[in-house]
Amino acid sequence: MKRVLITGGAGFLGSHLCERLLNDGHEVLCLDNYFTGAKSNIYHLLENKNFELIRHDIVEPFYAEVDEIYNLACPASPIHYQSNPIKTMKTSFYGAMNMLGLAKRTNAKILQASTSEVYGDPNVHPQKENYWGNVNPIGIRSCYDEGKRAAETLFFDFHRQNQVRIKIIRIFNTYGPRMNPEDGRVVSNFIVQALRGEDITIYGDGTQTRSFQYVDNLVEAMVRMMNTSEDVTGPINTGNPDEFTMLELAQKVIELTESKSKLIFMPLPSDDPQQRKPDISLAKEKLEGWYPDVNLESGLIKTIDYFKSII
Ligand code: NAD
Ligand code: UDP
Repeated sequence: MKRVLITGGAGFLGSHLCERLLNDGHEVLCLDNYFTGAKSNIYHLLENKNFELIRHDIVEPFYAEVDEIYNLACPASPIHYQSNPIKTMKTSFYGAMNMLGLAKRTNAKILQASTSEVYGDPNVHPQKENYWGNVNPIGIRSCYDEGKRAAETLFFDFHRQNQVRIKIIRIFNTYGPRMNPEDGRVVSNFIVQALRGEDITIYGDGTQTRSFQYVDNLVEAMVRMMNTSEDVTGPINTGNPDEFTMLELAQKVIELTESKSKLIFMPLPSDDPQQRKPDISLAKEKLEGWYPDVNLESGLIKTIDYFKSII
């Protein structure tokens, strides 16, 4: 049994990870400031004697004795991370600094939830870990992209300077139950709009692409990454390489919800990446044959069922 700290544990991904690690028999400390997460995501875990909930902002130092840290605290949806960009930078950088300090003191292993956004609007396709990216350092997405890039730098500096045991994964667009219906990401927006019979909002002409990973596949990759041998630091991409345009995604959601919603076209936000698809050969090699086996249709069906139950 390990004592595991999950920052951002009351968020979409964090809540699934808390559940998984409790099921594996570990003690879980779930830390969150509820900026985009919600207690309702983890209510069902409160009865578990191995679960502990802590309200804390990772911009401030935190002290506890832990064996492993999963650092997920950071708003992930563009509307939220852009609503207070200075805070987003602080969370990414000071949050990483504080958690790395804790890992150093306690000799804990620490995993960073990095992102495909470190590749920016990529001009290499699909994206491999050795691609350095094409990121605008002064645009509206920069607080998130550059914040996550700086966090990766800090992870490697703590590793080289203080021998902290680090694990970095670069997560590509992930979806599933417990996404916040108001958080503005494309999968939740389209499903909620389709279920409510509202217009489906396509930004730009809808030809931009993303590759969507179902949450269970990501959680499995995270746990396997934490358990890799010490020489495996990452970064390692985790995502589903099946690539879709936003028009294809909208069509699929309409079909699966049997919705009468119509598509409407809205301006494309600035610096919106045109294409994104992970090369996952490194993940397959290092994570014991891990493979994202949930395809878009079956993942969407489960996600639609969830949104039907809450809206
Ligand atoms: P989310 O917004 O649901 O979860 C983030 C959680 O962090 C929330 O519970 C929020 O309240 C908490 N938080 C934010 N700032 C905090 C702070 N300063 N102190 C303490 N808690 C704070 O988003 P998510 O999709 O679950 O993303 C989790 C992590 O995974 C994020 O770091 C995100 O960058 C990363 N990620 C997610 C995706 C994805 O597609 N879902 C893709 C790439 C990376
Ligand atoms: N998008 C869209 N309609 C929406 C929300 C998003 O067309 O209602 C587009 C967005 O412009 C982007 C893609 O969907 O091209 C994915 O957006 P999301 O915010 O989910 O993730 P990210 O851009 O961070 O990959």
